Amino acid sequence: MALAQARAIYQQKLPLVNALVFTLEQEGADDETITNAINEQFPGFARGQTFYTCVLCDHREFGFGNNPAPLRQQGRCCEECNLEEVIPTRISMVQAEAELAANE
Ligand SMILES: [Zn+2]
Repeated sequence: MALAQARAIYQQKLPLVNALVFTLEQEGADDETITNAINEQFPGFARGQTFYTCVLCDHREFGFGNNPAPLRQQGRCCEECNLEEVIPTRISMVQAEAELAANE
C-alpha cells in the first residue's frame, strides 16, 4: 500500500478512534481496556500508537502525535493543533527567512 494511501486511511480513522476513546473514558475505562477496544474495532490501528496529552491544547489523544516544534520543544501535539498552529508557524518562519535573505 502506498504511503499516501495509508496516511489517508489513518487520517480518516483517527477521529473515529478518538471518539471511541472519549466514550470509553466517559465510562471510566482504563488505558488497557481502551487500547483493547481500539484493537478490536480497528484491527492493526493501535500499533505503535499511545495515549498522549497534546502540549498545545491539553487534550488527551490517542495516536502517534506530531512534533510541536517550534511552538514547543518537547512532547507531542494533536492533529488539529498541528494543522492549525504548528504548520502555519513553520510556514511563516520559512517566509520570514526568505524575506530576510532577499533583503540582504
Ligand atoms: Zn492539540
